[in-house]
Amino acid sequence: MGKKRIVTGDRPTGRLHIGHYFGSLKNRVKMQESGEYEPYILVADVQALTDNFNNPEKVRKNVKEVVLDYLSVGIDPNKTTIYIQSMIPEVAELTVFYSNLVTIARLERNPTVKTEIAQKKDLFGESVTYGFLGYPVSQAADITALDGELIPVGEDQLPLIEQCREIVRKFNSIYGEILKEPEAVLSNAKRIKGLDGNEKMGKSLGNAIYLSDSEDEVNKKVMSAVTDPNRIKKDDLGNPDVCMVSYYHKLFSTEEECKNICEECRAGKRGCVACKKQLAQNINKTLEPIRQKRKYYEDRPELVDKIIIEGTEKAREEAKKVMKKVKKAMKLDYFE
Ligand code: SF4
Repeated sequence: MGKKRIVTGDRPTGRLHIGHYFGSLKNRVKMQESGEYEPYILVADVQALTDNFNNPEKVRKNVKEVVLDYLSVGIDPNKTTIYIQSMIPEVAELTVFYSNLVTIARLERNPTVKTEIAQKKDLFGESVTYGFLGYPVSQAADITALDGELIPVGEDQLPLIEQCREIVRKFNSIYGEILKEPEAVLSNAKRIKGLDGNEKMGKSLGNAIYLSDSEDEVNKKVMSAVTDPNRIKKDDLGNPDVCMVSYYHKLFSTEEECKNICEECRAGKRGCVACKKQLAQNINKTLEPIRQKRKYYEDRPELVDKIIIEGTEKAREEAKKVMKKVKKAMKLDYFE
């Protein structure tokens, strides 16, 4: 049996942060290294434009940043194909074909889309665009254009995969068994809270540590992390369960360190500044090899371009094969 094909990706709306690292990147590297899969990662620039249509510069700039982030965490272009969504016109074509197979009411009911529309009130006001409402359709095109079989997602993304599966079933029931129905693989990676305790981490919230942050930036950011608000003096008895520094120690420090931190905090024997310094040190220890790898690729922009171009060419070849079958099935294969 051949290797199962995985399709994942990110919207290039900013550099990737440690939330992405624990949420998906580590898992992607692990799957890549297992040798059991054929992984593709798309940089979803067209999808990024659905809520950044008025800021194309931002999307363009972040395409390279996101690719550098992938390479810096260990995505290996010899094992994983990295490609740019807008350079695969078949994805846009499929999106148009699929738009006949999904109703507006169904898109409006999609829980992921509903949540995101609510979060983007500032941009859309009361009336959301056709492009944003329809992004699950373009995501279905991303997946099926590459014959994606396994799609690693967090729980909040499951409705998008279900929507894709519905489109595939509908397509196949009308035009014949052409498309592969992908399966969602629920990653056990959890969503990482921001330094301020916010459930979401992001640039606009100013609560994220980026993979490309310098040592100084990490030190500064950790110093601003929210701690137990009832603790004023070092000998006040603390509660590490309500402290973001303790929360991050669980991600970056050893089990023994975490145990000591909790005990000393509860006993009023640990100062918050020292606790933060220790955390910053451990985060920097994790990020250092990532920074070094990033620097290697930053110093070789022509190599990064080559990786993107070759990855995109390979993905396009796959998409062309799917499109040929799709057009034949839809009786759109004129003059062939
Ligand atoms: Fe948080 Fe550490 Fe301060 Fe306790 S000592 S409140 S764990 S920063």
